[in-house]
Amino acid sequence: MNVENLRKKIPALGRMVYGRPLVYLDNAATSQKPEEVLDMQDSMSRFSNGNIHRAMHILSTESTSAYEKARERVRAFINAKSDREIIFTSGTTASINLVAESFSRAFVKEGDKIIISEAEHHSNIVPWQLACEKYGAELLVAEIGDDGRIKMEQMEKMLGEKDVRLVSICHISNVLGIVNPVKEIIAAAHGHGVPVMLDGAQGIVHGKVDVQDLDCDFYAFSGHKIYAPTGTGILYGKESFLEKMPPYMGGGDMVGTVTFKKTTYAELPMKFEAGTSNFIGQSCWTPALDFADSLYEDKELSEEIKRTEKSIIEFIFGELSGMEGVRVLGGTSASGDKIPLFSISADGVHPSDLAQIMDKMGVALRSGMMCSEPLLSKFGLTAVLRASFLPYNTFEEAEAFVRSFKKAVGMLR
Ligand code: PLP
Repeated sequence: MNVENLRKKIPALGRMVYGRPLVYLDNAATSQKPEEVLDMQDSMSRFSNGNIHRAMHILSTESTSAYEKARERVRAFINAKSDREIIFTSGTTASINLVAESFSRAFVKEGDKIIISEAEHHSNIVPWQLACEKYGAELLVAEIGDDGRIKMEQMEKMLGEKDVRLVSICHISNVLGIVNPVKEIIAAAHGHGVPVMLDGAQGIVHGKVDVQDLDCDFYAFSGHKIYAPTGTGILYGKESFLEKMPPYMGGGDMVGTVTFKKTTYAELPMKFEAGTSNFIGQSCWTPALDFADSLYEDKELSEEIKRTEKSIIEFIFGELSGMEGVRVLGGTSASGDKIPLFSISADGVHPSDLAQIMDKMGVALRSGMMCSEPLLSKFGLTAVLRASFLPYNTFEEAEAFVRSFKKAVGMLR
């Protein structure tokens, strides 16, 4: 297997746009899907569309079996201890909101503190603001330096404060493309008896995640960023916490018995899965994660991916750092904690104009504030242009990106 053959499994990557081959570099927003995922979604929708956990008929037993098989596939993928620790949600945002509300209801009281960092997506800011407001807690924000790295000394100091209840930070920033030293942060937090939640929306996609090795207490991620359908997500939580947390939503499938006087709740993980889940989408975790694993299991392929990612990082930093008034956020090509994700600003040019022109050249990019307004304003910006790569992208696509970027900047200045 090589990247060229891998791309043939993903129909969208073979598309032509405006008479040119599509160069899809908006992967941090959502990934394109391989045939195996599309086929399963299609065949379940056509032939096995029976609501899960509820009926004795064959359509329901088939979909229930696919849904629970997917839960086990996710458990194995992140090496969780038990499938009781794998909660299906609609995405990272839903997973973080679940913890922010349910963990806070169980463990947070007036005057307690929650730590996040300056480099968070709005999904890992706003749910904590809502929870702090509701439960009377204070939100502490760990600073990052100009190089995009968390200031560890300051983080350590914050952890030492009284009544810190939880740290919630991103594994990899969706703006800086920097891998946080999460193992170090988790060890430091645990040293103070503080649990840690990781926003793994970007982290799950770039390299293996082992929740037992990390020893994180919660890990949240979205299916659509890792080759699975939209509207699918996972909350991993240590059983010891999930057991003590109250349900987030009430409804069908999450109960033991219901009377008007008292309701008892289902065992984990069902306690947190009220109502009809997106069971067809969630079942597709199995082919999606098989695809993700195949990238690392084939030695030749994984070597090719590693080599290409390294040369893309060196090439883009090299080409753009020589351009006047152009800034790439988040370190340099030499830093080992960088994924191929580049947030760029060019003096005198609005990123959305660049993205629009480059789209017409066949290059699909993201522009705007990346749902990270506080982080951008720290760097004195209101918007950036973002190019984000996945293992199915090629070096030639990085060249096409740089060519079209230079041309578009030239047109606009
Ligand atoms: N956290 C990070 C770091 C992200 O990059 C994203 C999405 O881009 C999210 C959270 C939210 O993910 P979703 O919209 O899939 O819930």
